[in-house]
Amino acid sequence: MKAAVLHHFGQPLTIEDVAQPALADDEVLVQTIACGIDGTDLKLCDGFGYTPELPFVMGHEIAGIVHQIGNRVSGFQVGDRVVIYNFLICGKCMFCLTHREQLCPNMRGVMGVLNWHGGYAEYVRVPAQQLIPIPDEVAWEDAAVSCDAALTAVHALERSRLRLGETVVIIGIGGVGSVLVQLARLAGAHVIVIDHDGQRAHWATENGAHDFLDSSVEADIPQAVQTLTHGMGAACVIDVVGKEATMNAGFNSLQRSGRMVIVGYTPEQYPVPGKQLAQNELEVIGTRAGRRQNLLDALNLMANGQLKSIVRYRYGLEQINAALDYLRSGAAIGRIVLKYTV
Ligand SMILES: [Zn+2]
Repeated sequence: MKAAVLHHFGQPLTIEDVAQPALADDEVLVQTIACGIDGTDLKLCDGFGYTPELPFVMGHEIAGIVHQIGNRVSGFQVGDRVVIYNFLICGKCMFCLTHREQLCPNMRGVMGVLNWHGGYAEYVRVPAQQLIPIPDEVAWEDAAVSCDAALTAVHALERSRLRLGETVVIIGIGGVGSVLVQLARLAGAHVIVIDHDGQRAHWATENGAHDFLDSSVEADIPQAVQTLTHGMGAACVIDVVGKEATMNAGFNSLQRSGRMVIVGYTPEQYPVPGKQLAQNELEVIGTRAGRRQNLLDALNLMANGQLKSIVRYRYGLEQINAALDYLRSGAAIGRIVLKYTV
């Protein structure tokens, strides 16, 4: 089978023929039909943050067709349309048993990220317990990006406890941010988007934002948020970027009792004064990817037409390096997906 293989950090992937993986009894072989490409893949290419053992096949947003099933697999048939839940969980720990699988401390790996080859290949091997069926109404490419972008957004919204009538500031309108804006709008919030790229204003509005602030020209973001909220400030800020500047802008845009939700992170840090936290009763909420249920929720929202597609660019496996270069250029607005011909 063909695969795009990472042999050396910092160098392009090579397209090559590799052996089709053999299956264990509890595993299935999935024929990849669509696979999302995002910033995690750039970090993997660079060996920053994630350093899988090389050679490695990336690709962690996988939608495909069940091609072969192991001897002890039940509940799935050859031909089923499925997505793959990325975290290879133990299924037995307290977190797995209480539906917080993303916090499982015993993960065997993460599809296409760590210890397990992903979807930049024509076929992937995966334990059957990782599979979730795709509703008929959902297109392959949208199903693919539900595995990370939409799943992460659904979980972040859940963690944020956003309520009807509240104002939410969403910082960063990449893949996760684009879905978050749609979800926040569905939740009945007043949605303000902040991004450093003013060209994304139209995209933000298309996805449901009421207001857009361009942080590359807006000198005082907290003041601008105050103006847009009639002096109230935001009930909730969701930071999908996680830089010192975005966290600073976020904390100072919160109203009293506001909630700061951290989705994105970088090596940068932001010290929050204890007095500001205590006296204003602020909450800081971390959120990581999502639970299996969040993936089901994302697919159902897509099937019902409540979430619209964020996919704007499509590449074939042979063009994988061009796709990664385009993502790195920062010019992409909306998501990039790798598509295989069936
Ligand atoms: Zn577990």
